[in-house]
Amino acid sequence: MTDEPTTETTDRQTPRDVGGLAPATRIVALGRENPAPGAQVGAPLVLTSTFHADGPVNYARGGNPTWSAFEEALGSLEGGDALVLASGMAAVTAALSLLPHGGTVVVPDAAYNGVMATVGDLEAAGAATVRRVDVTDTAAVVAALPGADLLWLESPTNPLLEVADLPALAAAARERGVLTVVDNTFATPLLQRPLEAGVDVVVHSATKYLSGHSDVLLGAVVTAGDERGRSLHEQLRRHRQLGGGIAGPMETWLALRGLRTLHLRLERACASAADLAGRLAGHHAVTRVRYPGFGAIVSIEVTGGAAGAEGVAASTRVWVHATSLGGVESLLERRRRQPNEPEKVPEELLRLSVGIEDVDDLWRDLSAALDRLGDDA
Ligand SMILES: *Cc1c(COP(=O)(O)O)cnc(C)c1O
Repeated sequence: MTDEPTTETTDRQTPRDVGGLAPATRIVALGRENPAPGAQVGAPLVLTSTFHADGPVNYARGGNPTWSAFEEALGSLEGGDALVLASGMAAVTAALSLLPHGGTVVVPDAAYNGVMATVGDLEAAGAATVRRVDVTDTAAVVAALPGADLLWLESPTNPLLEVADLPALAAAARERGVLTVVDNTFATPLLQRPLEAGVDVVVHSATKYLSGHSDVLLGAVVTAGDERGRSLHEQLRRHRQLGGGIAGPMETWLALRGLRTLHLRLERACASAADLAGRLAGHHAVTRVRYPGFGAIVSIEVTGGAAGAEGVAASTRVWVHATSLGGVESLLERRRRQPNEPEKVPEELLRLSVGIEDVDDLWRDLSAALDRLGDDA
Protein backbone atom coordinates (compact mmCIF):
# COMPACT_ATOMS: atom_id res chain seq x y z
CA MET A 1 0.00 0.00 0.00
CA THR A 2 1.74 3.08 -1.23
CA ASP A 3 -0.31 5.52 0.80
CA GLU A 4 -0.11 3.95 4.24
CA PRO A 5 0.81 6.70 6.71
CA THR A 6 4.19 6.25 8.23
CA THR A 7 6.14 8.42 10.59
CA GLU A 8 8.73 8.97 7.87
CA THR A 9 6.75 10.61 5.10
CA THR A 10 8.69 13.83 5.03
CA ASP A 11 11.01 14.78 2.23
CA ARG A 12 12.32 17.67 4.28
CA GLN A 13 15.89 18.45 3.44
CA THR A 14 18.36 19.54 6.05
CA PRO A 15 17.31 23.17 6.51
CA ARG A 16 19.86 25.68 5.41
CA ASP A 17 21.88 27.09 8.24
CA VAL A 18 19.96 30.21 9.21
CA GLY A 19 21.22 30.51 12.78
CA GLY A 20 21.46 34.13 13.85
CA LEU A 21 19.65 35.46 10.77
CA ALA A 22 16.74 37.89 11.17
CA PRO A 23 13.21 36.90 10.09
CA ALA A 24 13.40 39.13 6.99
CA THR A 25 16.47 37.22 5.84
CA ARG A 26 15.01 33.80 6.64
CA ILE A 27 11.81 34.64 4.74
CA VAL A 28 13.91 35.16 1.65
CA ALA A 29 16.44 32.35 2.16
CA LEU A 30 14.38 29.37 3.32
CA GLY A 31 12.51 26.82 1.24
CA ARG A 32 15.16 26.64 -1.45
CA GLU A 33 17.37 23.77 -2.53
CA ASN A 34 20.78 23.45 -0.97
CA PRO A 35 23.24 25.47 -3.01
CA ALA A 36 25.08 23.37 -5.59
CA PRO A 37 26.30 24.13 -9.12
CA GLY A 38 23.27 24.04 -11.40
CA ALA A 39 20.69 23.72 -8.61
CA GLN A 40 17.61 25.85 -9.08
CA VAL A 41 17.46 29.04 -7.05
CA GLY A 42 13.66 29.23 -6.99
CA ALA A 43 11.56 26.89 -4.87
CA PRO A 44 10.46 23.68 -6.60
CA LEU A 45 6.93 23.40 -8.01
CA VAL A 46 6.46 19.63 -8.07
CA LEU A 47 3.42 18.17 -9.83
CA THR A 48 3.34 14.43 -9.27
CA SER A 49 1.03 12.05 -7.45
CA THR A 50 3.68 9.43 -6.72
CA PHE A 51 7.41 9.02 -6.24
CA HIS A 52 9.93 6.28 -7.04
CA ALA A 53 9.90 3.73 -4.24
CA ASP A 54 12.18 3.76 -1.21
CA GLY A 55 12.60 7.53 -1.04
CA PRO A 56 11.53 9.75 1.87
CA VAL A 57 7.99 10.16 0.42
CA ASN A 58 5.96 7.42 -1.30
CA TYR A 59 2.83 9.20 -2.38
CA ALA A 60 1.89 12.87 -2.67
CA ARG A 61 -0.96 12.75 -0.15
CA GLY A 62 1.80 12.35 2.45
CA GLY A 63 4.32 14.89 1.23
CA ASN A 64 5.56 17.02 -1.61
CA PRO A 65 8.78 19.04 -2.04
CA THR A 66 6.71 22.20 -2.62
CA TRP A 67 4.93 21.68 0.70
CA SER A 68 8.28 21.14 2.39
CA ALA A 69 9.63 24.41 1.00
CA PHE A 70 6.69 26.41 2.36
CA GLU A 71 6.73 24.49 5.65
CA GLU A 72 10.44 25.11 6.12
CA ALA A 73 9.96 28.87 5.73
CA LEU A 74 6.82 29.20 7.86
CA GLY A 75 8.11 26.77 10.51
CA SER A 76 11.28 28.80 10.90
CA LEU A 77 9.31 32.05 11.29
CA GLU A 78 7.02 30.58 13.96
CA GLY A 79 9.85 28.69 15.67
CA GLY A 80 8.38 25.22 15.10
CA ASP A 81 7.36 22.61 12.54
CA ALA A 82 4.67 23.56 10.03
CA LEU A 83 2.20 21.46 8.05
CA VAL A 84 0.51 23.05 5.06
CA LEU A 85 -3.23 22.43 4.58
CA ALA A 86 -5.78 23.27 1.92
CA SER A 87 -7.25 26.33 3.65
CA GLY A 88 -7.39 28.10 6.97
CA MET A 89 -10.53 26.12 7.78
CA ALA A 90 -8.69 22.88 6.96
CA ALA A 91 -6.10 23.99 9.52
CA VAL A 92 -8.88 24.77 12.02
CA THR A 93 -10.42 21.34 11.43
CA ALA A 94 -7.03 19.65 11.84
CA ALA A 95 -6.42 21.45 15.15
CA LEU A 96 -9.95 20.64 16.38
CA SER A 97 -9.27 16.96 15.59
CA LEU A 98 -7.06 17.04 18.72
CA LEU A 99 -10.22 17.48 20.80
CA PRO A 100 -11.38 14.06 22.05
CA HIS A 101 -14.94 13.08 21.14
CA GLY A 102 -17.25 14.46 23.80
CA GLY A 103 -14.48 16.72 25.07
CA THR A 104 -14.72 20.28 26.33
CA VAL A 105 -13.37 23.25 24.40
CA VAL A 106 -13.04 26.82 25.67
CA VAL A 107 -13.49 29.35 22.84
CA PRO A 108 -13.73 33.13 22.44
CA ASP A 109 -17.29 34.51 22.53
CA ALA A 110 -16.47 36.18 19.22
CA ALA A 111 -13.78 35.06 16.78
CA TYR A 112 -13.52 33.95 13.14
CA ASN A 113 -17.06 32.97 12.19
CA GLY A 114 -16.03 29.66 10.60
CA VAL A 115 -14.57 28.54 13.93
CA MET A 116 -17.65 29.73 15.80
CA ALA A 117 -19.93 27.82 13.42
CA THR A 118 -17.80 24.66 13.59
CA VAL A 119 -17.74 24.48 17.40
CA GLY A 120 -21.46 25.34 17.42
CA ASP A 121 -22.10 22.34 15.15
CA LEU A 122 -20.02 20.05 17.39
CA GLU A 123 -22.03 21.27 20.37
CA ALA A 124 -25.37 20.76 18.60
CA ALA A 125 -24.35 17.22 17.62
CA GLY A 126 -23.42 16.41 21.21
CA ALA A 127 -19.81 15.85 20.13
CA ALA A 128 -18.33 18.56 22.37
CA THR A 129 -19.09 20.85 25.30
CA VAL A 130 -18.35 24.46 24.43
CA ARG A 131 -17.51 27.18 26.96
CA ARG A 132 -17.52 30.71 25.51
CA VAL A 133 -15.36 33.34 27.19
CA ASP A 134 -14.28 36.95 26.82
CA VAL A 135 -10.61 36.44 25.88
CA THR A 136 -9.62 39.87 27.21
CA ASP A 137 -10.67 38.74 30.70
CA THR A 138 -7.74 36.50 31.65
CA ALA A 139 -9.23 35.49 35.01
CA ALA A 140 -12.50 34.45 33.34
CA VAL A 141 -10.65 32.34 30.77
CA VAL A 142 -8.59 30.64 33.50
CA ALA A 143 -11.78 29.99 35.49
CA ALA A 144 -13.21 28.15 32.46
CA LEU A 145 -10.20 25.80 32.15
CA PRO A 146 -10.75 23.12 34.83
CA GLY A 147 -11.96 19.92 33.17
CA ALA A 148 -11.48 21.34 29.66
CA ASP A 149 -9.46 19.54 26.97
CA LEU A 150 -8.70 22.40 24.61
CA LEU A 151 -8.35 26.19 24.85
CA TRP A 152 -8.94 27.85 21.48
CA LEU A 153 -7.66 31.40 21.15
CA GLU A 154 -7.42 33.93 18.39
CA SER A 155 -5.46 37.11 19.05
CA PRO A 156 -6.23 39.72 17.89
CA THR A 157 -9.71 38.35 17.20
CA ASN A 158 -11.55 38.71 13.93
CA PRO A 159 -13.14 41.28 13.69
CA LEU A 160 -13.31 42.79 17.22
CA LEU A 161 -9.49 42.89 17.54
CA GLU A 162 -9.59 41.68 21.14
CA VAL A 163 -6.19 40.67 22.48
CA ALA A 164 -5.57 37.69 24.77
CA ASP A 165 -2.68 37.40 27.24
CA LEU A 166 -1.04 34.43 25.51
CA PRO A 167 1.84 33.69 27.95
CA ALA A 168 -0.46 33.81 31.00
CA LEU A 169 -3.18 31.70 29.37
CA ALA A 170 -0.75 29.16 27.87
CA ALA A 171 0.87 28.66 31.29
CA ALA A 172 -2.49 28.35 33.08
CA ALA A 173 -3.72 25.86 30.48
CA ARG A 174 -0.58 23.73 30.61
CA GLU A 175 -0.78 23.58 34.40
CA ARG A 176 -4.28 22.15 34.08
CA GLY A 177 -3.44 19.74 31.27
CA VAL A 178 -5.38 21.75 28.67
CA LEU A 179 -4.04 21.93 25.12
CA THR A 180 -3.80 25.45 23.65
CA VAL A 181 -4.38 26.49 20.05
CA VAL A 182 -3.86 30.04 18.78
CA ASP A 183 -5.09 31.30 15.43
CA ASN A 184 -2.24 33.66 14.50
CA THR A 185 -3.67 34.81 11.16
CA PHE A 186 -4.06 38.48 12.11
CA ALA A 187 -0.66 38.97 13.78
CA THR A 188 1.52 36.72 11.57
CA PRO A 189 4.78 35.32 13.03
CA LEU A 190 6.47 38.66 12.41
CA LEU A 191 4.36 40.34 15.10
CA GLN A 192 3.61 37.43 17.45
CA ARG A 193 5.05 33.93 17.98
CA PRO A 194 2.62 31.96 20.14
CA LEU A 195 4.89 28.88 20.42
CA GLU A 196 7.43 31.04 22.27
CA ALA A 197 4.63 31.99 24.67
CA GLY A 198 4.10 28.28 25.45
CA VAL A 199 1.16 27.64 23.12
CA ASP A 200 0.89 24.10 21.66
CA VAL A 201 -0.52 24.63 18.18
CA VAL A 202 -0.53 27.69 15.91
CA VAL A 203 -3.18 27.89 13.19
CA HIS A 204 -2.96 30.06 10.08
CA SER A 205 -5.20 31.06 7.27
CA ALA A 206 -2.28 31.46 4.84
CA THR A 207 -4.91 32.83 2.45
CA LYS A 208 -4.43 36.17 4.22
CA TYR A 209 -1.11 37.89 5.03
CA LEU A 210 1.22 34.97 4.42
CA SER A 211 0.20 34.66 0.76
CA GLY A 212 -0.74 38.32 0.65
CA HIS A 213 -2.16 38.69 -2.86
CA SER A 214 -5.74 37.40 -2.56
CA ASP A 215 -5.04 34.72 -5.15
CA VAL A 216 -4.97 31.46 -3.15
CA LEU A 217 -6.67 29.69 -0.29
CA LEU A 218 -4.24 27.87 1.98
CA GLY A 219 -3.76 27.05 5.66
CA ALA A 220 -1.15 25.74 8.05
CA VAL A 221 -0.65 24.40 11.55
CA VAL A 222 2.63 24.76 13.44
CA THR A 223 3.82 22.85 16.51
CA ALA A 224 6.87 23.18 18.77
CA GLY A 225 10.03 21.16 18.27
CA ASP A 226 9.99 19.53 21.72
CA GLU A 227 8.70 16.03 22.45
CA ARG A 228 5.14 17.19 23.19
CA GLY A 229 5.15 19.26 19.99
CA ARG A 230 6.49 16.39 17.89
CA SER A 231 3.74 14.10 19.13
CA LEU A 232 1.08 16.70 18.20
CA HIS A 233 2.77 17.18 14.85
CA GLU A 234 2.50 13.47 14.15
CA GLN A 235 -1.22 13.44 15.02
CA LEU A 236 -1.82 16.43 12.76
CA ARG A 237 0.20 14.90 9.94
CA ARG A 238 -1.86 11.72 10.19
CA HIS A 239 -5.06 13.79 10.13
CA ARG A 240 -3.86 15.50 6.94
CA GLN A 241 -2.80 12.31 5.22
CA LEU A 242 -5.95 10.35 6.06
CA GLY A 243 -8.37 13.30 5.83
CA GLY A 244 -7.04 13.75 2.34
CA GLY A 245 -8.28 17.29 1.58
CA ILE A 246 -4.73 18.37 0.90
CA ALA A 247 -3.19 21.59 -0.42
CA GLY A 248 -2.35 21.81 -4.11
CA PRO A 249 1.32 22.29 -4.98
CA MET A 250 0.48 25.30 -7.18
CA GLU A 251 -1.32 27.09 -4.33
CA THR A 252 1.52 26.26 -1.97
CA TRP A 253 4.11 27.55 -4.41
CA LEU A 254 2.17 30.80 -4.86
CA ALA A 255 1.90 31.18 -1.10
CA LEU A 256 5.64 30.78 -0.69
CA ARG A 257 6.23 33.33 -3.45
CA GLY A 258 3.93 35.73 -1.60
CA LEU A 259 5.54 34.98 1.74
CA ARG A 260 8.90 36.25 0.45
CA THR A 261 7.65 39.85 0.79
CA LEU A 262 5.61 39.50 3.99
CA HIS A 263 7.93 41.75 5.98
CA LEU A 264 7.76 44.56 3.40
CA ARG A 265 3.99 44.34 2.91
CA LEU A 266 3.31 44.17 6.62
CA GLU A 267 5.61 47.09 7.42
CA ARG A 268 3.72 49.35 5.05
CA ALA A 269 0.25 48.06 5.92
CA CYS A 270 0.86 48.35 9.68
CA ALA A 271 2.20 51.90 9.39
CA SER A 272 -0.82 52.93 7.31
CA ALA A 273 -3.25 51.19 9.70
CA ALA A 274 -1.82 53.09 12.69
CA ASP A 275 -2.06 56.35 10.74
CA LEU A 276 -5.64 55.69 9.60
CA ALA A 277 -6.77 54.57 13.07
CA GLY A 278 -5.69 57.96 14.39
CA ARG A 279 -7.40 59.89 11.62
CA LEU A 280 -10.60 57.84 11.87
CA ALA A 281 -10.92 58.59 15.58
CA GLY A 282 -11.42 62.24 14.65
CA HIS A 283 -14.15 61.66 12.05
CA HIS A 284 -17.66 62.73 13.12
CA ALA A 285 -19.34 59.72 11.45
CA VAL A 286 -17.15 57.21 13.32
CA THR A 287 -18.48 56.27 16.76
CA ARG A 288 -15.75 53.80 17.68
CA VAL A 289 -12.32 52.76 16.39
CA ARG A 290 -10.95 49.34 17.32
CA TYR A 291 -7.22 49.07 16.78
CA PRO A 292 -5.04 47.03 19.16
CA GLY A 293 -1.89 49.11 18.55
CA PHE A 294 -0.34 46.64 16.10
CA GLY A 295 -1.31 44.81 12.93
CA ALA A 296 -3.01 46.11 9.80
CA ILE A 297 -6.70 45.57 10.57
CA VAL A 298 -8.81 48.39 11.94
CA SER A 299 -12.49 47.94 12.78
CA ILE A 300 -14.77 50.96 12.98
CA GLU A 301 -18.37 51.54 13.99
CA VAL A 302 -20.24 54.23 12.10
CA THR A 303 -23.38 56.29 12.51
CA GLY A 304 -26.52 55.18 10.72
CA GLY A 305 -26.45 51.54 11.84
CA ALA A 306 -26.18 48.64 9.41
CA ALA A 307 -27.48 50.74 6.50
CA GLY A 308 -24.91 53.43 7.21
CA ALA A 309 -22.08 50.90 7.23
CA GLU A 310 -23.34 49.29 4.01
CA GLY A 311 -23.50 52.75 2.45
CA VAL A 312 -19.85 53.43 3.28
CA ALA A 313 -18.75 50.03 1.92
CA ALA A 314 -20.67 50.62 -1.30
CA SER A 315 -19.29 54.07 -2.03
CA THR A 316 -15.51 53.80 -1.88
CA ARG A 317 -13.37 53.86 -5.00
CA VAL A 318 -9.91 52.75 -3.82
CA TRP A 319 -11.05 50.48 -0.99
CA VAL A 320 -12.55 47.29 -2.40
CA HIS A 321 -15.88 46.13 -0.98
CA ALA A 322 -15.15 42.44 -0.45
CA THR A 323 -14.69 39.91 2.29
CA SER A 324 -11.24 38.61 3.32
CA LEU A 325 -8.13 40.47 4.45
CA GLY A 326 -4.36 40.54 4.38
CA GLY A 327 -3.87 41.23 0.68
CA VAL A 328 -1.98 44.06 -0.99
CA GLU A 329 -5.28 45.78 -1.77
CA SER A 330 -7.33 47.47 0.95
CA LEU A 331 -10.66 45.74 1.59
CA LEU A 332 -13.65 46.68 3.71
CA GLU A 333 -16.75 44.82 4.76
CA ARG A 334 -19.62 45.07 7.23
CA ARG A 335 -19.05 41.80 9.03
CA ARG A 336 -22.60 41.15 10.19
CA ARG A 337 -23.65 40.55 6.58
CA GLN A 338 -21.99 37.13 7.09
CA PRO A 339 -24.57 34.61 8.33
CA ASN A 340 -22.35 32.99 10.99
CA GLU A 341 -21.01 36.22 12.46
CA PRO A 342 -21.32 36.25 16.28
CA GLU A 343 -23.94 38.59 17.75
CA LYS A 344 -21.28 40.29 19.84
CA VAL A 345 -20.12 41.98 16.63
CA PRO A 346 -22.07 45.26 16.23
CA GLU A 347 -24.32 45.58 13.15
CA GLU A 348 -22.61 48.86 12.19
CA LEU A 349 -19.05 47.48 12.38
CA LEU A 350 -16.88 47.73 9.29
CA ARG A 351 -13.68 45.70 9.18
CA LEU A 352 -10.93 47.49 7.30
CA SER A 353 -8.02 45.45 5.95
CA VAL A 354 -5.38 48.06 5.20
CA GLY A 355 -3.31 47.27 2.13
CA ILE A 356 -0.11 48.73 0.77
CA GLU A 357 -1.49 51.63 -1.31
CA ASP A 358 -0.63 55.27 -0.66
CA VAL A 359 -2.07 56.10 2.76
CA ASP A 360 -3.33 59.54 1.74
CA ASP A 361 -5.28 58.04 -1.15
CA LEU A 362 -6.77 55.53 1.31
CA TRP A 363 -7.74 58.29 3.71
CA ARG A 364 -9.24 60.61 1.08
CA ASP A 365 -11.34 57.76 -0.32
CA LEU A 366 -12.57 56.48 3.04
CA SER A 367 -13.18 59.87 4.62
CA ALA A 368 -15.16 60.98 1.55
CA ALA A 369 -17.39 57.89 1.92
CA LEU A 370 -17.80 58.67 5.64
CA ASP A 371 -18.57 62.34 4.88
CA ARG A 372 -21.40 61.27 2.58
CA LEU A 373 -22.80 59.15 5.41
CA GLY A 374 -22.80 62.22 7.64
CA ASP A 375 -24.74 64.18 4.98
CA ASP A 376 -27.54 61.60 4.82
CA ALA A 377 -27.95 61.20 8.57
C1 LIG B 1 -9.97 33.72 7.03
C2 LIG B 1 -9.72 33.18 8.38
C3 LIG B 1 -9.79 31.80 8.64
C4 LIG B 1 -10.21 30.80 7.58
O1 LIG B 1 -9.29 30.72 6.56
P1 LIG B 1 -9.63 30.22 5.06
O2 LIG B 1 -8.31 30.24 4.41
O3 LIG B 1 -10.62 31.20 4.52
O4 LIG B 1 -10.24 28.86 5.16
C5 LIG B 1 -9.46 31.36 9.91
N1 LIG B 1 -9.11 32.23 10.88
C6 LIG B 1 -9.07 33.56 10.68
C7 LIG B 1 -8.68 34.47 11.79
C8 LIG B 1 -9.37 34.08 9.42
O5 LIG B 1 -9.33 35.40 9.22
